[in-house]
Amino acid sequence: MMFDIVHKHTGWIEVICGSMFSGKTEELIRRLKRAEIARQKVKIFKPKIDKRFSDTDIVSHSEQKISSQVVNGAKKIISLALEAHVVGIDESQFFKSDLIDVCNTMANMGKRVIVAGLDMDYKGEPFGPIPKLLSIAEYITKTHAICVVCGNPANYTYRTTDEKGQVLLGASDKYEARCRNCYIPPVKKKSSREDK
Ligand code: ZN
Repeated sequence: MMFDIVHKHTGWIEVICGSMFSGKTEELIRRLKRAEIARQKVKIFKPKIDKRFSDTDIVSHSEQKISSQVVNGAKKIISLALEAHVVGIDESQFFKSDLIDVCNTMANMGKRVIVAGLDMDYKGEPFGPIPKLLSIAEYITKTHAICVVCGNPANYTYRTTDEKGQVLLGASDKYEARCRNCYIPPVKKKSSREDK
């Protein structure tokens, strides 16, 4: 991809987003490993909320791993990444809106900032700071899973349980990737929006 090379003396923002099981973290890891091979200094962060599998490694569902640092809030990333050429941020949908300023600041400092996260929540609504990050990013990659019902490319994360709340950690025990045809928004399953 063109943004794996060139670009001297300038920073930029890349966003990798899509549904669960679409390979976002694998793609993030792939780009970060390429940068490491080129001896660029790489730092990876994720929000404290993600306790899946490991506290210190970014772990994708395919078990590729890369060491990451867990942070309480986005603002801490700037001071922790001062030396880095490339900054990766995983599960970014869980950060607050200050992540947008943080990414802009680091890109303006000349860093390559790669942000991965869910573009939509289980209700099919834009998730956290991701929509604004998509606006300001130089490069956007939408990853797709495969619909478990029909095999079409899947854009939605369907929650298979009746639990409420935007944040419910889980994997294939609680979620399925589904296409537009097979996705049923929870408002249609039950006519309630009390957790909005
Ligand atoms: Zn489908």
